[in-house]
Amino acid sequence: MDKVILITGASRGIGAATATLAAQRGYAVCVNYLKNQARAEAIVAQIKTTAGAKAIAVQADVSQEADVLRLFQTVDMELGVISALVNNAGILETQMRVDEMDAARLSRIFASNLTPYFLCAKEAIKRMSNRYGGKGGAIVNVSSAASRLGSAGEYVDYAASKGAIDTLTIGLSREVASECIRVNAVRPAFIYTDIHSDGGEAGRVDRIKSSIPMQRGGTPQEVAQAIMWLLSDEASYATGTFIDLAGGR
Ligand code: NAP
Repeated sequence: MDKVILITGASRGIGAATATLAAQRGYAVCVNYLKNQARAEAIVAQIKTTAGAKAIAVQADVSQEADVLRLFQTVDMELGVISALVNNAGILETQMRVDEMDAARLSRIFASNLTPYFLCAKEAIKRMSNRYGGKGGAIVNVSSAASRLGSAGEYVDYAASKGAIDTLTIGLSREVASECIRVNAVRPAFIYTDIHSDGGEAGRVDRIKSSIPMQRGGTPQEVAQAIMWLLSDEASYATGTFIDLAGGR
C-alpha cells in the first residue's frame, strides 16, 4: 500500500519537521497550513529535492468543516488514499491567569486546538476504516505535557484543550481499534518553535530549561521521530497510548 500522510499545521515547527521526516520514510506528504504559504511551499520544495518524495501544500483552516472537507478531497485527488494523519495544528494566546480570560479567547482556543482534531479524525476514519471499505491507518494527535502540568499562570485554557485531546485519543482509539486504525498521541513540552512568541515570550524555553530534569529544551525533530514511530508498523500493537517528550518533566 502506498503511504500517504496529512500533517495539519506543517508550515513550521513540529509539523514541518514531521513532514520532512515522513518524506524520508517514504510517505507522499500533504503539508497543511493556515496563513504562511511561502513557508509551506518551501517545505514542499525541500521535500521534493532532498527526499524525492511527492508533496503538496494545501491551505485550509482546520477549524472550519468546509475547509477540512476540501483538504481531504485534495489529498484524495492528488496523493491517493490517506494512511496516516497527524493532528498537529494548534495555537497559544498571550500568557495570563484564568481570572483574566474572556469568552472570546476561550472560544478561539477550543475552536483552534480541539475541534480540528475531531473534524480531521472524522474524515480520516471515513477513508481508513474497514467499516467503510478502507485498508486501515494510523492517527497521531499532538497533545502537550501541559495536559498533565496545567500551565498555571501561563495558559490553563491551552492546557485544558490538550487535556481534551488526551481524552479524545483514548476514546477514539477504543472506538476504531477493531477497524484497523490505531490512535496515539505525543505530549511534548519546551520545544524550540515559534509558538512561544505567540504566547508573548519568545525566550520561554531558555527561561525554563534549568528546571527541566534534562536541563535543556527539545527540538521539533525529536518530536517528529516519536510521531513517526507511533505511525510505523513497529508500533503495531500500540493504541490509545502517549509518548511524553518533556525532558523528564
Ligand atoms: P507553531 O510553530 O506555532 O506552528 C503552528 C502551525 O499550525 C503553523 O503551521 C500554523 O500555520 C498552523 N495552524 C495554526 N492554526 C491553524 C488552523 N486553524 N488551520 C491550519 N493550520 C493552522 O507550533 P509548534 O510549536 O510546532 O506546535 C505544533 C503542535 O505542537 C501544536 O499543537 C502545539 O500545541 C503542540 N506543542 C508544542 C509545544 C512546543 O513547545 N512548541 C509543546 C507542546 C505541544 P501558519 O504558519 O500557516 O499560520
